[in-house]
Amino acid sequence: MSDRSSVAPASNFLRAVIEKDLGAHTYASRRWARSPGDAAHHAAGEPDPAKIRTRFPPEPNGYLHIGHAKSICLNFGLARDYDGVCHMRFDDTNPEKESVEYVESIKDSVQWLGFGWNAYGASHLYFASDYFDFMYRAAEYLIEAGHAYMDEQTPDEMRASRGTLTEPGKASPWRDRPREESLALFRAMRDGRHADGAMVLRAKIDMASPNINLRDPAIYRIKRAHHHNTGDTWCIYPMYTYAHPLEDALEGITHSICTLEFEDQRPFYDWVLERLAEGGLLAHPLPKQYEFARLNLTYVVTSKRKLMQLVTEGHVSGWDDPRMPTLVGLRRRGYTPAAIQLFAERIGVSKADSWIDYSTLEGALRDDLDGRAARAMAVLDPVKLKLTNWDALFAGRESEACSAPVHPHHPEHGQRSFNLAREVWIEREDFMEEAPKGYHRLFPGNRTRLKYGYVIECTGCEKDADGRITAVLATIVPDTKSGTPGADSVKVKGVITWVGALDGVTAEVRLYDRLFTEAHPDAGGRDFLTVMNVDSVKSVQAIVEPGLATAAPDDRFQFERHGYFVADRKDSAPGLPVFNRAVTLKDSWGK
Ligand code: ATP
Ligand code: MG
Repeated sequence: MSDRSSVAPASNFLRAVIEKDLGAHTYASRRWARSPGDAAHHAAGEPDPAKIRTRFPPEPNGYLHIGHAKSICLNFGLARDYDGVCHMRFDDTNPEKESVEYVESIKDSVQWLGFGWNAYGASHLYFASDYFDFMYRAAEYLIEAGHAYMDEQTPDEMRASRGTLTEPGKASPWRDRPREESLALFRAMRDGRHADGAMVLRAKIDMASPNINLRDPAIYRIKRAHHHNTGDTWCIYPMYTYAHPLEDALEGITHSICTLEFEDQRPFYDWVLERLAEGGLLAHPLPKQYEFARLNLTYVVTSKRKLMQLVTEGHVSGWDDPRMPTLVGLRRRGYTPAAIQLFAERIGVSKADSWIDYSTLEGALRDDLDGRAARAMAVLDPVKLKLTNWDALFAGRESEACSAPVHPHHPEHGQRSFNLAREVWIEREDFMEEAPKGYHRLFPGNRTRLKYGYVIECTGCEKDADGRITAVLATIVPDTKSGTPGADSVKVKGVITWVGALDGVTAEVRLYDRLFTEAHPDAGGRDFLTVMNVDSVKSVQAIVEPGLATAAPDDRFQFERHGYFVADRKDSAPGLPVFNRAVTLKDSWGK
């Protein structure tokens, strides 16, 4: 493992808020009845053993992406660091587009990242749809208390009367209808006696508010849709902005952390909770909402709609295509949970929107893998090298054993072994008939070292009828084997990697590159499909060290000179690994 756990997390404004709240005992009086519920439910419980409660509330309408990872690391990380609990909550109040497939993949991804929701002897996995009864009851209370009314305007009329940033809105003709009338209509709407879109329940706040979100926002609408959890029980569903604060309050959340676009919703968040607390449905202290800047990462798109489009239109092989910024894609690409956590720590948390360069993510992976990935040699573009004085030196032997450390800085990881033979595979680019100045690999008359093997002297090459090089020729310089006395007496400027022809293993290696050629693929409303990188994947037949034949899915390696690779978790078969390039050794993009 990398040593990230020994690094103290950087401070940020959210840590400052939490530390202030803890110091002031803001939440010390809270009670928790071991399950979500209203004020009466929690009053019967015990003092909450969790000092703070945060939550990660995805809508199960797609797979999680790297932006979600920022939120996961933040929410679960804060709970971990301040003796709290982070709830895994599915925000499934919108019946359309949600499915169990997404629920399962989201749970998997959060756990893969290294987080869980078991704490204080209980699971904190929740579904917002389990709160529909309370949400309905709270809406009836708001009507009875004069804080909500049924509006029968058409959607167009409602939009027109909402006003603008500079003009106040106009009151609906239904705004002052008797409470009993609204209540009867609301119940009839629940009982399915009105058509979709015929009416909505609206909060009664202030049509002249400078914050448009307070101009009587809709809180319930009619929608005849099958829900993955509640089936056909409901034909009315709460609006997200109404449902979310209620979910937080029922779960005893203290710090409700969301992205900046919800900043303007905060007054409504507080308004709803305050009204329900006045009615005794919820108890103080109420949850508070805090906003942070979402992750914007260059060279990717993270909108679920756009990721979905890449999948459904077949631009990628699926949600877990190794080029996708989804967590299942990054995992398959070779990313580790530690690398993603390290990335999240490095980018920090702020209130200012900005772009993070993709190379920051790649850098975190390199930094994690460098210290622990096993090393191996692999030839990605093979050409044969014939050692023409083999028989003179190794009369009667077919191979010569060589070895190398599994990791250069961890002798305790042991040695790997492989064999030099009369013929070996080298990279095609490691030979030139006429070398420019500064080229220290193979060209006629030059000496180079076969890494962990001998110094060799290039004598020429063989070509086919078309002039294409079919083999490189060289002689072994005696007594130069790495690790033997005097091996360094022959000085060379170049060292090349190789794999023996007798024990080398053929393997498919997939070389991935960025999915888009532009840093901001969807900037300015551009169709992101027009800037897809046509060379984002290339598959090659490589020859790899014999030890890699038994690589297990998800095993990660540094292929010397080439970068970090992972045995593909889907396509690798026993004895037949397929490798994905996770990241190159150096940041070479655009250079
Ligand atoms: P999308 O816009 O791609 O559909 P979303 O915000 O609708 O994403 P949710 O499932 O609602 O997706 O997100 C769950 C949580 O993850 C939310 O709290 C949201 O704030 C957070 N989140 C989503 N995208 C990002 C991001 N790019 N950076 C940080 N947090 C994010
Ligand atoms: Mg959302």
